[in-house]
Amino acid sequence: MTLNRRTFLGAAAAAASLSAPMVRAMGKPRVVVVGGGAGGATAARYIAKDSKGAIDVTLIEPTRKYYTCFFSNLYLGGFKNIEDIGHTYGGLAAGGVNVVHDWAVGVDRDAKTVSLAGGATLPYDKLILSPGIDFVEGAVEGWDLSAQNAMPHAYKAGSQSELLKAQLMAMPEGGVFAMVAPPNPFRCPPGPYERVSMVAHFLKQNNPTAKIIVADPKPKFSKMALFQEGWANHYEGMVDWIGDDFGGGNVSVDPNAMTVTIDGEETKVDVCNVIPAMKAGRIAELAGVTDGNWAPVNAADMSTKADGDVYVLGDASAQGDMPKSGFSANSQAKVCANAVRGALTGSKVFPAKFSNTCWSLIAPDDGVKVGATYEATADKIAKVDGFISQTGETADVRKTTYMESEGWYSGITADMLG
Ligand SMILES: Cc1cc2nc3c(=O)[nH]c(=O)nc-3n(C[C@H](O)[C@H](O)[C@H](O)COP(=O)(O)OP(=O)(O)OC[C@H]3O[C@@H](n4cnc5c(N)ncnc54)[C@H](O)[C@@H]3O)c2cc1C
Repeated sequence: MTLNRRTFLGAAAAAASLSAPMVRAMGKPRVVVVGGGAGGATAARYIAKDSKGAIDVTLIEPTRKYYTCFFSNLYLGGFKNIEDIGHTYGGLAAGGVNVVHDWAVGVDRDAKTVSLAGGATLPYDKLILSPGIDFVEGAVEGWDLSAQNAMPHAYKAGSQSELLKAQLMAMPEGGVFAMVAPPNPFRCPPGPYERVSMVAHFLKQNNPTAKIIVADPKPKFSKMALFQEGWANHYEGMVDWIGDDFGGGNVSVDPNAMTVTIDGEETKVDVCNVIPAMKAGRIAELAGVTDGNWAPVNAADMSTKADGDVYVLGDASAQGDMPKSGFSANSQAKVCANAVRGALTGSKVFPAKFSNTCWSLIAPDDGVKVGATYEATADKIAKVDGFISQTGETADVRKTTYMESEGWYSGITADMLG
């Protein structure tokens, strides 16, 4: 159509006669998702896929490749290459998600906008935050983020995982690998102990007289009996776990001198993996939806207690009984996606059901697992029933458990990223 003066004036008059909300109602509802990990990528993908174009979905994620923390311990153990755990966002873009590689640096909940480091401001009708974790400043005496090269955390996967692996490979014969384990609650409760197992496996192959010391502020940990059985069976005499009862929580480090002091006793170490106490990723705090550490949410849809249009998924949320895991984040994301789509388009919303399984590899073909199902109650996500591997299981059972975890990894990465 050629635009003559008459049609132009007519269109302008029609637009002027619409109130602002009507103009907005004519456009698509907008969902902004911050964080392209287990929670955020899944939520973005499901909302775009299931709304079939009726909702405008934008995902904000600074990295172009997401390295999964899940299986990053297997990379340390030599069972995976770094590229096996790296995934791009092309599948999400092809599935209709507008993927923006940038940092979200602010949320204005009154104006309903998210500001980005690059200068853009994005409006939203619903905002989903899944930023993972950050570390509590001052949690381990002597350590801060400026020391993460000398003493890596490797609790966000990618360059930190590669650094820890390089340090492990460079350990002198008979050297000492120390770990400072975190207090509860933290990302992946079995994660530090699977890591100990994978480091022990690597050392048994390459540096069998080396030792592992773990300083732990907790008196017990996830799948403890299974890990301790595995360490005794596969890595006898290599792992010295010092729990809270023996001063494991009274720890400081010196990244320059490469020393760890546990309950007053200083040890010179070759590698020191410091995993500090954790809290929600900073953008959740900037959005004003945390209790200082984590973001309390409503179990039925993962909306925050602070703001019904802001949802928090995964590690950053305080939701009740689920462990902070990739499986949990993915499960919560699907509940949230269904609820957000329902709120914006009137589609059917199903009752919230959640599940989780955390597999850990102790040694080749020696896999163990713990898991549960959950439901939404008025107070929290509440555990319904659970299961856990048993000590003394046969090699066949353990191998089957490990094979399950391989299947799960392929499944979840496809479910998140398309
Ligand atoms: C060693 C280890 C082993 C693990 N093993 C398992 C396992 O076997 N099974 C399992 O289920 N879970 C496992 N986990 C836990 C799992 O990795 C996390 O629970 C899961 O990734 C949480 O998902 P999330 O979406 O909350 O955060 P993440 O997956 O960490 O995603 C957060 C994303 O947000 C982005 N982001 C942060 N801030 C901003 C911002 N301001 N703007 C834009 N983007 C931002 C980050 O770049 C990141 O990509 C393991 C974790 C570790 C450390």
